[in-house]
Amino acid sequence: MAATIVALATPVGEGGIGILRLSGSKALEIASPALHLHSLTTFSHAESRKLYYGHIIDPTDNSMVDEVLAVWMKAPTTYTGEDVVEIHCHSGMIPLRRTLEICIDAGAILANPGEFTLRAFQNGRLDLTQAEAVMDLVRAKSEASGKQAVMQLKGALGVHIGALSKRVLSLIASLEAWIDFSEEVDSPDVKGVETKLTELIASHRELLANANAGKALRTGLRTVIVGSPNVGKSSLLNALLGEERAIISEYPGTTRDTITEQIDINGVALILCDTAGMRESTDPLERLGVLRSLQAIDEGELFLLVLDGSRKLLREEKELLTSLVSHPLIIVANKSDLPAAIDEEELTALLPPLTPIVHTTLISSDSSKGVADLVAALERLICGLTAHRETALLTRERHVVAVREALLHLEQARASLLSGMTFDCLGLDLRLAWTCLAELTGEAVSQTIVDTIFAEFCIGK
Ligand code: GDP
Repeated sequence: MAATIVALATPVGEGGIGILRLSGSKALEIASPALHLHSLTTFSHAESRKLYYGHIIDPTDNSMVDEVLAVWMKAPTTYTGEDVVEIHCHSGMIPLRRTLEICIDAGAILANPGEFTLRAFQNGRLDLTQAEAVMDLVRAKSEASGKQAVMQLKGALGVHIGALSKRVLSLIASLEAWIDFSEEVDSPDVKGVETKLTELIASHRELLANANAGKALRTGLRTVIVGSPNVGKSSLLNALLGEERAIISEYPGTTRDTITEQIDINGVALILCDTAGMRESTDPLERLGVLRSLQAIDEGELFLLVLDGSRKLLREEKELLTSLVSHPLIIVANKSDLPAAIDEEELTALLPPLTPIVHTTLISSDSSKGVADLVAALERLICGLTAHRETALLTRERHVVAVREALLHLEQARASLLSGMTFDCLGLDLRLAWTCLAELTGEAVSQTIVDTIFAEFCIGK
């Protein structure tokens, strides 16, 4: 039987309430001796889910530790699926530490990070995607990522994947029935199997097509500000942030490192990354900056290319532009207070159709012109993402890898079917596809994957 675990469930620090949580079959037995209640002779007679007022008394010297509220919640309908006791102390280091020690002296074991949620998963209270959503919700930094995490926590993704895996399983069952009892069972209708496989493949492709949106909603969109030195990249970052975050200078090459900040547009987090200007340099520091910029570009999901509208396009700007055209891109033609010299026709010819070009003046953050237009262009660009908010989305690389592999096996199964291979070969690929989906929800998952997922959690969660 699993040991009864205990941990502080609220953040460490001074505050109104700090909650200690115990989970396991001995939770009530461990908490009772130290809990002296007003309305009951002993906490071990407590009714489930009722809050009791009382005091924690240290059994070793009968000293009063804290004035508390305590609740016992009976298994199995609790967060962990086990008996749970919560003791609501005052949030101070001494009362919480002493109460924790009393519980440990009485036989509880200090919980590992994520152990409460791990137990919830092991006891079937949550599937693996819901356990991940617990962490995502705790860490959510934007309205959209919070909503996405709540949907996943409610089981939207798990249910969706579960339904796909059931469809795969029913195909496997019909093929295996025929393999095992070919004399009694009619041969599966090849056309029908092919149709089912085609539908499954389409469902997997659809999930993968929306995966970037899922990841973006969870972690934010990496938005990289790029351009040559001195075009106004740092000014743009500051204008978007509404504060003087980056050093602005009239000397080219001032931003030698990448700067990262977050803004919220329509509830979606944009992780803004201001990069060092792209140009050849002999200064080692500046070259390091350019190297980091190239890395940021590699990881970027949306790009703001800043150009100096008061001069012609440079060769390296055209090259940079060409390397960015396959990504979501907005052109910021800055310095529109100066006479325009940029050749807009030449610029438009280099861009994919409908790429937004926004004209700005960013001399100082409070007189920034065109920033509202830029925000509107950003809103339009990310509104494609918001369209997916109400559906189950793959939010992590782990999910994407699993669905991609399942898809490969399904495609292989269909190819086998069409080339006239035996049903045995088909069954093998279908089983592998099923395993990928079962790994995603945790229905059949290796300990290593479970360990990796729960390693992200904090103590008490
Ligand atoms: P970065 O090197 O691309 O990050 O460019 P900065 O933001 O540091 O700006 C470089 C210089 O251009 C500074 O002297 C800014 O004051 C100036 N600058 C930025 N935006 C504008 C603008 O809209 N008009 C004019 N005239 N100057 C600007």
